[in-house]
Amino acid sequence: MDIQDLAGRIQNGERRALARAITLVESGRSDHRAQAGELLEALKPAGRQALRIGLSGTPGVGKSTFIEAFGMHLIAQGLRVAVLAVDPSSARSGGSILGDKTRMESLSRERNAFIRPSPSQAQMGGVARRTREAVALCEAAGFDVVLIETVGVGQSETVVAEMSDLFLLLIAPAGGDELQGVKRGIMEIADLILVNKADGALKDTATRTCADYAGALRLLRKRPQDPEGFPKALTVSAVTEDGLEKAWGEMQALSDWRRENGHWDRRRADQARHWFEEEVRLRLLAALDKPAARAALSSLGQDVAGGQMSPSHAAEQMLDLLGTSQAG
Ligand code: GDP
Repeated sequence: MDIQDLAGRIQNGERRALARAITLVESGRSDHRAQAGELLEALKPAGRQALRIGLSGTPGVGKSTFIEAFGMHLIAQGLRVAVLAVDPSSARSGGSILGDKTRMESLSRERNAFIRPSPSQAQMGGVARRTREAVALCEAAGFDVVLIETVGVGQSETVVAEMSDLFLLLIAPAGGDELQGVKRGIMEIADLILVNKADGALKDTATRTCADYAGALRLLRKRPQDPEGFPKALTVSAVTEDGLEKAWGEMQALSDWRRENGHWDRRRADQARHWFEEEVRLRLLAALDKPAARAALSSLGQDVAGGQMSPSHAAEQMLDLLGTSQAG
């Protein structure tokens, strides 16, 4: 494969080249990994930046309906939109509850949209790496907005927040004052909480739910990366499209403020550092999985179990074998 040629075609915005490149970064084969690395390096100098928007919500809250309506809204303004999915369910079951192309029918037909479903992969670490690299590829292909969608379970929203400039949490209207068991952790990473389905019979409930969340957000510690009034809760309807323009306006206001105040660059720099460390961890784990390493692990484990060697001495030997023995 001619990597320079592929890089050129991606930079020309050719969607087939982009799809092919994402397949390359998804591959676990070591020759593909090497080519993917070369490709990402080749694309780096162009330095194009998209607005990366993470989006999370439980199944049925309206994520795909929202992405379809919001994506079409952005495209109508002349923007190019890519949609990627991080599906934690595929890691467990091999099945997928996200990223099915047929979920966003009009958007998937748009020339200025690119939709990529989540791959089924063995572990979250691999999915995170693939998505992060796919985001970089979409940026290189000149997309203005990259939406990264995930289901609100497990660690996936933290992973998505770590690769996003803005993080949206989609919520369904709920009766009473229950905050739908939304964990504090996810409230703390949200920049905008969007209470969806604020239409028809659900409109009043949605307005009340939104007020509840606005109240809860005010109780959170103020974050340095936020101007006055953020994080915010808003009502939207993905079906009637009410509130979408306002939500987009808030996203722009927030990202403009962060750019002007140095938070944008700092966040990206922190994220790059985080992913570098994550990559080191992944590679160490992969090195441990090689046959020779497994054999050594097993035989040293026997020595430790039999009392011939202390756990830390055995660990030292193991790290020596991996060539990563640490001093101190
Ligand atoms: P996802 O699982 O989060 O992707 O949710 P979907 O987008 O598939 O939506 C789940 C259901 O909620 C579907 O029946 C949608 O038609 C409905 N839905 C989504 N958005 C809205 C909305 O804004 N208003 C109303 N009334 N229903 C909606």
